[in-house]
Amino acid sequence: MTSQFFSPVVTRLTPYIPGEQPKISNLVKLNTNENPYPPSPRVIAAITQAAQQGLQLYPDPQASTLREAIAGHLGLSAPQVFVGNGSDEVLAHAFFAFFQQGCPLLMPDISYSFYKVYCGLYGIAACLVPLTDNLRLNVADYACAPDECVAGVVIANPNAPTGIGLPLADLEALLKLHPNRVVLVDEAYVDFGGTSAVPLIARYPNLLVVHTLSKSRSLAGLRVGYACGQRPLIDALERVKDSFNSYPLDRLAIAGAVAAFEDTAYFEQTRQAVMSSREGLVLALEDLGFVVLPSQANFVFARHPMHHGADLAAGLRAKGVLVRHFIQPRIDAYLRISIGTPAQCDRLVQALGELLTSASTHHCT
Ligand code: PMP
Repeated sequence: MTSQFFSPVVTRLTPYIPGEQPKISNLVKLNTNENPYPPSPRVIAAITQAAQQGLQLYPDPQASTLREAIAGHLGLSAPQVFVGNGSDEVLAHAFFAFFQQGCPLLMPDISYSFYKVYCGLYGIAACLVPLTDNLRLNVADYACAPDECVAGVVIANPNAPTGIGLPLADLEALLKLHPNRVVLVDEAYVDFGGTSAVPLIARYPNLLVVHTLSKSRSLAGLRVGYACGQRPLIDALERVKDSFNSYPLDRLAIAGAVAAFEDTAYFEQTRQAVMSSREGLVLALEDLGFVVLPSQANFVFARHPMHHGADLAAGLRAKGVLVRHFIQPRIDAYLRISIGTPAQCDRLVQALGELLTSASTHHCT
């Protein structure tokens, strides 16, 4: 749809399409990489308390308590942490702050699809660097000539939707290839077995690491994300944020997020539970004949040599199990399956088993 009132840039936008959030009950929802476990009870208590006092007042525009809590957790100082309304907002501000340089931004051809959407929003050319045939990132492919115009680099590590992690040595090589450009590393899924680049921040002024509370902290509904980097990068993000919205995090979000960082035991317990379900799910999928990429995330990316991804996703949906399928070259055979509770994973495996059996029966008759 378009209209005479649209500005030219709005007419040209191709917005991001989030995974379905259907209101159907008894659905096994494994399509948007949420955590299957609720947030820590301490988060709920903190939000409840925050709701009872002070909602008539604006929140702290700096969200200082939260920045302190995150910095303490990561061994950084609060001025090295920027917080925003979900990591999507943090990413958007980073694209605005660092990548509008009049040159292309390097990113993998298969990665989080929002990166291309931000490029469209801010008029940044996206230079898609193909992953290798087995969907790995090869750092040497990001090299460019000394006089080449490049705005920066954005990658997800572990990558989405493959789940494959990039070793820290490779990431360091990438940082060294682009010392004068920002390298943004989106670590949305790092707590499920990846290796974080945060310890490299002290040595690399060009490194910006983005995290979210939506996955490993079970807070997708609260909308909290953050970026870590040396002060000049954080100052740039502050300048953009303070030119856009002074209060991206409300009082409930700040209180809940602080409590999430205080409950380390719950964080450990739930992320271990997700990782152990993942190992079980991988084996069960392989038993059904799926090829499953090695995942360091809270989802797996899997294809069946005999069945198309779109058919399997539709068949699962009809059985009340939602997974994500991307209509995109190179990956349209795959399903991206979020890790659920053991019971949810069992329902998925059972539904897939039924689908594969009925498909092969049809085949024979
Ligand atoms: N980065 C990646 C790689 C993601 O998959 C997601 C979730 N869709 C996000 C960032 C955004 O997460 P949020 O805005 O919930 O923090």
